[in-house]
Amino acid sequence: MNVLVIGAGIAGLSAARRLSETGVAATVLEARDRIGGRSWTDRDFAGFPVEFGAELIHGKSPEVNTWTWVEKLGLATWRWNKCDDSMIRTEDGGWLTMGEARSRSPELDMTRSWELGDVPDPRDDEDLGAYLKRIGFSPEQLRYVQRSFANAEGESMRFLNAKAHAQLFKDSDGEDDYSDFRILDGYDAYYLRLAQGLDIRLNRPVIDIDWRDGVTVKTVADDVFRADAAIITLPLGVLQSGRIQFDPPLPPSKQEALAGLKMGPVMKMVYLFDEHILDPSIGAIYARGNPPMWWSPSLGRENSPVVWTAFFTGDYARELLNLGEAAALQRGLDTLRAEVGKPALQYIKARWINWPEDEFALGGYSVCLPGHYDARDKLAAPTPPLYWAGEASAPHHLTAMVHGAYFTGQRAADEIMNRRRQS
Ligand SMILES: Cc1cc2nc3c(=O)[nH]c(=O)nc-3n(C[C@H](O)[C@H](O)[C@H](O)COP(=O)(O)OP(=O)(O)OC[C@H]3O[C@@H](n4cnc5c(N)ncnc54)[C@H](O)[C@@H]3O)c2cc1C
Repeated sequence: MNVLVIGAGIAGLSAARRLSETGVAATVLEARDRIGGRSWTDRDFAGFPVEFGAELIHGKSPEVNTWTWVEKLGLATWRWNKCDDSMIRTEDGGWLTMGEARSRSPELDMTRSWELGDVPDPRDDEDLGAYLKRIGFSPEQLRYVQRSFANAEGESMRFLNAKAHAQLFKDSDGEDDYSDFRILDGYDAYYLRLAQGLDIRLNRPVIDIDWRDGVTVKTVADDVFRADAAIITLPLGVLQSGRIQFDPPLPPSKQEALAGLKMGPVMKMVYLFDEHILDPSIGAIYARGNPPMWWSPSLGRENSPVVWTAFFTGDYARELLNLGEAAALQRGLDTLRAEVGKPALQYIKARWINWPEDEFALGGYSVCLPGHYDARDKLAAPTPPLYWAGEASAPHHLTAMVHGAYFTGQRAADEIMNRRRQS
């Protein structure tokens, strides 16, 4: 049996690795000239690994599968202690550590611990903002959820399915502020190892997938690949774009899945400075302006150049996309100047990382729209000889994350092997 894996991001690498470990021949077709997809470690910008895509491991060992590899490879990690090393600009202009802000304000604390008490469950058709309002969140709390939680989730609250998020609140152990880790050696130390020994063909943008009798895949350059089955790990944005021709067309359940999900505009701007812009023990800023979230990949490294990364999604991203690259970079600098109180702050260089307009991503990561709670399951369901993986097809609590993408790759490979055993 042989299998084509479309896409060499984490999901594709995970699937191909699993298949090849069990003796199934897998060929990975990747459109870009590099592997990793939305995990993209840059080593030129600052002379140390700077993440242009995925940056953190969200969660601890052993629950999160990334740790298996990080520990096996002995990679150095750094834990983001948000309570002590993150500053927040409060609405009244206060400048507090996150720990101070949380202990002074129980209302703010609730938006991070998610200990909501005895509240009604959300409906499937309810968006997150409407739900939180219904259970009594104040306008100030809602604005804070928007600039912190929803910004991290990838979209503005009106696009976030409240039911999909309520489960996250229930699962939250109040430890959210202590369970994000950076791989100091770079995410690429992980995904390059994952790829070792696999048959990966770069620069092969797939445009046509014929799944009538086995699978025949055609690339832009008219290369043709045939296999018994294929695992599709294409980003949601690419699947929705209609650029890939499926023959026969995808069934209604897949069309419903694609209509029920949305690619969040998730972006970064990365700045290099010639000196510290804050006390070097401070590694993140929750800003009042746009971009609302900043962190420094320099934190936890000895004597490294000073880099700050702005992370913005949803309406924040749309606003900066409308400005365009140069004005957005300037706007970011102005926001940072105001927050750190340095009106003359200047950067050495800056980089704008535009995932929404990246032709092989067409967005940052997926969100589930109100009214479409089942969309991820529908996207994940096998349609032999096509099998489905990729972050958008992960269960709600794993989506938009590297370890979720990895899980979907393992799942799709297992589905193929189970089917082979049964036939
Ligand atoms: C800015 C940003 C920050 C993030 N931060 C984090 C974080 O801190 N922690 C975390 O866990 N996750 C984070 N994520 C999410 C994480 O990056 C993704 O969930 C994960 O990398 C997705 O992996 P994937 O394999 O599903 O998709 P992808 O990585 O997108 O892989 C799909 C592959 O398909 C390829 N492809 C596209 N079109 C074609 C075609 N026509 N033919 C062939 N190949 C094609 C793409 O080039 C890509 O390599 C972040 C994402 C972004 C954008």
